[in-house]
Amino acid sequence: MPLHINTPLLESRPLSLAGGRSIWLKMDALQPPGSFKIRGIGAACEHHATGGKRRFVSSSGGNAGIAVAYAGHRLGIPVSVFVPETATELAKSLIRQEGAEVIVHGASWQEANERAMSALDTDTAFIHPFDDPLLWTGHATMIDEVVAEGLSFDAVAVSVGGGGLMSGVVEGLARNGLAHIPIVAVETEGAASLAASIKAGERIQLPAITSIATSLGARMVSERAFEVTQNSAVDSVVVSDRTAVEACLRFVDDHRVLVEPACGATLALAYGHAGALARFERVLMIVCGGATASLAQLQAWHAA
Ligand SMILES: *Cc1c(COP(=O)(O)O)cnc(C)c1O
Repeated sequence: MPLHINTPLLESRPLSLAGGRSIWLKMDALQPPGSFKIRGIGAACEHHATGGKRRFVSSSGGNAGIAVAYAGHRLGIPVSVFVPETATELAKSLIRQEGAEVIVHGASWQEANERAMSALDTDTAFIHPFDDPLLWTGHATMIDEVVAEGLSFDAVAVSVGGGGLMSGVVEGLARNGLAHIPIVAVETEGAASLAASIKAGERIQLPAITSIATSLGARMVSERAFEVTQNSAVDSVVVSDRTAVEACLRFVDDHRVLVEPACGATLALAYGHAGALARFERVLMIVCGGATASLAQLQAWHAA
């Protein structure tokens, strides 16, 4: 049985009015661990459990770590999540809340990840946050659900970190005969590794991540994500952190759902960047969610 739920699909009156076109929301913020990531990570964890793995390891102090912890709990498999000293108390407590072990190591993700790698053995499955075909196939279920509800749309807007979500959306479109539908790929300034790669014509590694949208903070996108931009219609859009935070706060009032700036970046297309949607009449927005920003944190960013 899948570990994700079938999420609501709704036409947003406020976003449609703000964006000047019909905006449909796939509400993956409502997944039990708070983001779309459980779709792919749940599928990967089930695959590894069936294959006999007896422990899961993650090196994400964000929504991927939370999703692995949730999946392990549901499957009765112990989970260790290696996170850097910079991981927030909220993220660590959400991981521990699922009964997973949190190991704090190193100043940055690189060091935490190296320690995680050194902890692997043949009984253990390492769950990558975005670069794994098992994940993309799992993420693709969100498009299956939209198609099953009979909605037709002429673009899909998604936030991009390492590009796992976008790769999954592309797979979902392809397996439903919709490979021609364009993608609007949204990043924040300071985390725009996809935009930089498209501009350069090759995968680029950013020197550092300076955006507050840490869930988009992959310094380099996966090979698959870059390949998608070369083979499909992908519009790349970069928004400011401020715009993303403002979109989160408006979305709380409009839909009574709290999401991270990583998700607010996509919502900001309707609230303030409608030019990016000008060619489209009916846009499907993936409300990817995110559990690591509290309302107080959003308000503090907004006041800063
Ligand atoms: C992981 C994540 C993303 C980005 O997904 P990628 O697969 O890394 O591109 C966007 N939003 C949220 C809330 C996330 O947790």
